[in-house]
Amino acid sequence: MQGSDTCIFVPPVTSAPSSSYVLIEFQSRDSSVGPRDGNSGGTLDFQLNEEQLQLKKSVREFAEREIKPHVMEWDEAGEFPLATIKELGKLGLMGTIFPQEYGGAGMGYVEYVTAVEELSRVDGSVGIIVAAHTSLCTNHIFLAGNEAQKQKYVSKLATGEFIGAWGLTEPSSGSDAGSARMTAVRRGKNWVLNGTKTFCTNGHYADVIVVLAVTDRTAHTHGISAFIVEKDTKGFRPGKKENKLGLRASDTAELIFEDCVIPAENLLGAEGQGFPDSMRILDGGRISIAALSLGMAEGAYEAALKYSKQRRQFGKAISDFQAIQWKLADMATEIDAAMLLTMRAASMKDAGLKTTQESSMAKLYASEVAVKCANEGVQIHGGYGFIKDYPAEKFYRDVKLCTIGEGTSEIQRLVIARQLLRD
Ligand SMILES: Cc1cc2nc3c(=O)[nH]c(=O)nc-3n(C[C@H](O)[C@H](O)[C@H](O)COP(=O)(O)OP(=O)(O)OC[C@H]3O[C@@H](n4cnc5c(N)ncnc54)[C@H](O)[C@@H]3O)c2cc1C
Repeated sequence: MQGSDTCIFVPPVTSAPSSSYVLIEFQSRDSSVGPRDGNSGGTLDFQLNEEQLQLKKSVREFAEREIKPHVMEWDEAGEFPLATIKELGKLGLMGTIFPQEYGGAGMGYVEYVTAVEELSRVDGSVGIIVAAHTSLCTNHIFLAGNEAQKQKYVSKLATGEFIGAWGLTEPSSGSDAGSARMTAVRRGKNWVLNGTKTFCTNGHYADVIVVLAVTDRTAHTHGISAFIVEKDTKGFRPGKKENKLGLRASDTAELIFEDCVIPAENLLGAEGQGFPDSMRILDGGRISIAALSLGMAEGAYEAALKYSKQRRQFGKAISDFQAIQWKLADMATEIDAAMLLTMRAASMKDAGLKTTQESSMAKLYASEVAVKCANEGVQIHGGYGFIKDYPAEKFYRDVKLCTIGEGTSEIQRLVIARQLLRD
């Protein structure tokens, strides 16, 4: 195709810290001129390297062995899988993207996506717990924190010793997060927090919470600052535990701050920079929701594929019917496309590039695909898709969060359009 946009992913040199998917080129190229010097003429290498494949295999084995047998029991009871999360910490999976000097695994977003995808393929609840902990709470402290804050908090969060949560959403401000009402007032050497956050993942189990509050009402989004709150701080308490449609083993909490006094040094980042920093954090967070979506879409697809070969009607397997084959073909194709968008965003992040548009595209597309796959998964199972003996039903419930959390599909389209219309 003449003048098409070409992106080339190549394995890194051996000294590269993390990803094999390094985006080295994204430019218009005229294919009629043939291969350029020193490369194969635009070959795309989409393969995970050996270490990444090993990571994928290990996480899959862990998820099949330690998570799968308990999934429905946790779901029915709304039970937070604390012991399993601590095990993930020991495996380095609660700090995949952070340097080893801060207790992390020293890997990148490609590895992080791979891990969240594999966990979510078995249980989206575990996927979202890891995602909120890693790319929202810990990453906010890692990116905006000073050295003392990183040493004090990231080193414990990245190992899973601490569990983290991130509170931006309030009862009256969700998509319009800039209209937050929670306040932080400076009083001597302290900040005093007052307000309520809602829908906070991990809220009841978090040792550390990053919370956004208004420090200067007149400055609108430049008057919102981020703070680190430790769980036992006087004046802070988790409130209502949400009773949810899906992802029921993950914890979704109200957070209540009543004259909650925290030391001045718990201001995270510059005063007034909390909101712009949060948007930067969400660029990474949205990649993790894309990975969560991808994993659940794969789980739903694999269950449907397996069932379609076993279930017989009219004297043959239902996979022999073209109507079922087309559903499976569409699911597999769209999952592949979602994976490519997600890995592109992850590899760009690892290459240090800005990913606002690519993260939103990955999150938007992967989440919509996941909802569609889970829906078709139930349809392929027929009546058995509606009952809890088969996994289709749970994927159908769990996956809907993906088009809502960390910005709804409508907000992702706004973000993408804003980027497209920028210049
Ligand atoms: C299980 C779960 C876990 C969550 N975890 C966290 C967390 O850890 N931390 C956190 O801070 N938040 C968390 N959230 C909150 C989540 O990010 C918000 O629910 C989400 O951003 C949407 O906000 P809202 O629910 O207030 O919906 P609203 O903003 O009220 O939106 C309602 C509808 O209006 C649409 N809409 C709003 N504005 C526009 C617009 N400008 N144009 C077009 N349509 C629009 C939306 O797309 C949606 O369809 C979580 C939510 C859930 C359900």
